Formats: sequence, structure tokens, C-alpha cells
Amino acid sequence: MPVLAGFAASNVLLAFDYDGTLAPIAPTPASARMRAETRRWLARAARRYPCVVISGRTLDDLSKRLSRVPVWYLFGNHGFEPSAGNEGHAARVRAWADSLSRRLPVHQGLVIEQKKYSLTVHYRHVRDKHRVVEAIVDAVRHLPDVRAIGGAEAINLLPLGGPNKGVALQEARRLFACDTAIYIGDDDTDEDAFASAPPDRLLSIRVGTRRQSRARYRLPHQRDVDTLLQRLVELRATRRA
Ligand SMILES: [Mg+2]
Repeated sequence: MPVLAGFAASNVLLAFDYDGTLAPIAPTPASARMRAETRRWLARAARRYPCVVISGRTLDDLSKRLSRVPVWYLFGNHGFEPSAGNEGHAARVRAWADSLSRRLPVHQGLVIEQKKYSLTVHYRHVRDKHRVVEAIVDAVRHLPDVRAIGGAEAINLLPLGGPNKGVALQEARRLFACDTAIYIGDDDTDEDAFASAPPDRLLSIRVGTRRQSRARYRLPHQRDVDTLLQRLVELRATRRA
């Protein structure tokens, strides 16, 4: 892919989502882990490029999952962490959690994950998904100042008017004084990042087969991320040789 070589030769930032991008989607959020192969290539890439991870997970959770990988910076909570989230956002999310736990019928397998600055309702393990999604959508309609974004058998709720993955990506690019960025993600929350810069400044790649996306390129499978990392490492190895 000549476009990849072009970006690799520029002053480029590499930015990744975590779940479904660096780590395969797992039955529960707690069990998502990077494969050893991905960990190895990511570590090599991070020695050759400024590398950041931007995830919907809390910063604390994400930090544990990336310990021993020398990435340069981590953003949690879709960019609300480390520094963009405030007490107003947190109070709003607490009120949503209260309202949702009152409004949502008790379904086995339905999990409301409160993450201080954002909230995720997981429905992977409920039996009647169609009915449950309808109930969630209806309950979310009653919440004030919310932005709802669909995920992998989950619905993410973010405070309206706050940052997002696109804001975090551009902040990281400025932080490391990079001219360009490569962003890889698999989810609708990554669309903000894909749309955050023009294509000559941003190489946007969506993992998976979904047709509707702002990303210019696709990697069909999560495993393909390893190949991409390897290629990026090789491109800088050649340049230095
Ligand atoms: Mg993801």
C-alpha cells in the first residue's frame, strides 16, 4: 500500500482504539486481552513512532492492559481522561446511571458499566436482544444532554458537548508535534477520529466489514492489525538502514 509508505515517511502519529482493534472482542470486557503477537509488534512500532491508544475504557483499566508496552500516551473514556472530564460530566453520568437502573427492566445479562465520565450498557449476554435494545433506546431518550453511540453489543453514553476520540486524536497529534496521523478503530465511537482531519493528514482505517464509515481504508479482520503493525515497523527499519 503506497499510501502507507507515504505516511510512514512523514512525521506521523500512530493511534489505536483498543477493543476490537488491538485486542479481539471478548465475551466480557474484563477478558479482552492483546495477543502476544500484537503486543510484540506494538512495542516495536512504539520504538519507531509516537504511539497512542484512545479507548472508551477508563484510563485506569486501559493502563493495566497496556502495562509493559511502551506506548507514549493513553486516553481513556473516549478522550475525557486524563484531563478533559470534569465534575459536571461525572454528575451527569451518575444521574444517567440512576435513571437507567430505574427505567430498564431487570434482564439477566444486562450490565450498566459506570465509568465516571461515560457509561456503557452491555447487552451481549441477554437472551432477547431485540426487545432489550428497544428498552435501552427508550430509556436513553429520557436522559438529558446525552450522546448515544452504538458499540459491539453495547451502547455508549457520553456527555454531550464534551470531547470524543477525534478531539483526543488531534490533541495527541499536537502533543507530539506530528504533522500527520494514522488512526485504526473498529467501532462507531471511532468515526469521530476518522472524521477529525482531511485525508492528506490522516490515514483512517476501520477494522471489520461494515460498509458505512468515514474511514478511507478497511482491514477486514482484527488479526490484520498485526500485519499492519509489522509493515509499519518494516517501513521505518528500511528508512534507517
Ligand atoms: Mg473498539
